[in-house]
Amino acid sequence: MQALVTGGAGFIGSHLTRALLDRGETVVVLDNLSTGRSDNLAELREGPRLRLIVGDARDPATVAAAMEGCDAIFHLAAHVGVRRIVQQALGSLLNNLHCSLTVLEQAARRRLRTIHFSSSEVYGKGRGDVLIEDQDLAIGPPNVSRWSYAAGKAVDESLAMAYHAERGLPVTVVRCFNTCGPRQTGRYGMVLPTFVRQALAGRPLTVHGDGSQTRCFSYVGDVVRGVLALQGAPATVGELFNVGNDVEVTIRELAERIVKLTDSRSPIVTVPYERVFGEPFEDIRRRVPSLQKIRSFIGYQPRVDLDELLRITIESMRTEAPRCDAPAAVAERSVQDPRN
Ligand code: UDP
Repeated sequence: MQALVTGGAGFIGSHLTRALLDRGETVVVLDNLSTGRSDNLAELREGPRLRLIVGDARDPATVAAAMEGCDAIFHLAAHVGVRRIVQQALGSLLNNLHCSLTVLEQAARRRLRTIHFSSSEVYGKGRGDVLIEDQDLAIGPPNVSRWSYAAGKAVDESLAMAYHAERGLPVTVVRCFNTCGPRQTGRYGMVLPTFVRQALAGRPLTVHGDGSQTRCFSYVGDVVRGVLALQGAPATVGELFNVGNDVEVTIRELAERIVKLTDSRSPIVTVPYERVFGEPFEDIRRRVPSLQKIRSFIGYQPRVDLDELLRITIESMRTEAPRCDAPAAVAERSVQDPRN
């Protein structure tokens, strides 16, 4: 198989690329290196089965060229991170919709097996219960930018489903839930790498709100394994799946565990949402995926629990600390298209 991974230099994309190469596949990565970084793929760059195209997934000609010779597409190219999405709502909306439209259209013309990456954000506020793929979405009004992002992601999913229904695109949509692990940067607000970095630096861990909101953190290796199994199962075409871990933790407890596991003397402080986001902000109080559907289709079971995920992440951030904190410009200066 030759696979195109859009956003393949990003956090999840680079883990997926590695897993595909480990399976013996050839991989074309298309990434504009806006949040992705070529050094996420640095140790793979020498491989003859990996091609990195630095380009824009909104551009049909670029995407068509990247798809040449491919049998499968994994579409991850998107603006990510709640903080970034809130600060740059228009750019994020336009970029994400435009990328999806281009990639899905080009994939449909070639009838390429496609995995479309979506987000648990589409559930919006949820309904306080575990989140099931076919439940109604509870997205708030569009004057709150977080909900605009969720709405945009939901439109992406609708596009994927419509391309499946009307143009025969063999697509599967995956909704990722708080995926974490090595090489994830906290630069765009993600809580787990942010807390680890704060704890390692001896700085206060900044819990937003009262810290009683909950999330389920999943190890990126588990997510990639699940996605590859979904891709290989023809019955998953035209379906949506939650992918993640269903063990719930409060954000305050997460902070406490990180302080303990890093032997840090950092205090845990609470910060009002308004101070962080500078606008009315509605957090998601509880976010727990139902894994029943993915279990029934492919027997999926996460293998890495939260403490192990934290240990893996802490270890990788201890060794990679300078790079994780490096400003984007420094990390991206070394980028080269290996074809040139
Ligand atoms: N959060 C926090 N401190 C931080 C970053 C995030 O307390 O420095 C909180 C955030 O408000 C949310 C949770 O951690 O309640 C998860 O945030 P993240 O941005 O990682 O992902 P989300 O699940 O909200 O998309």
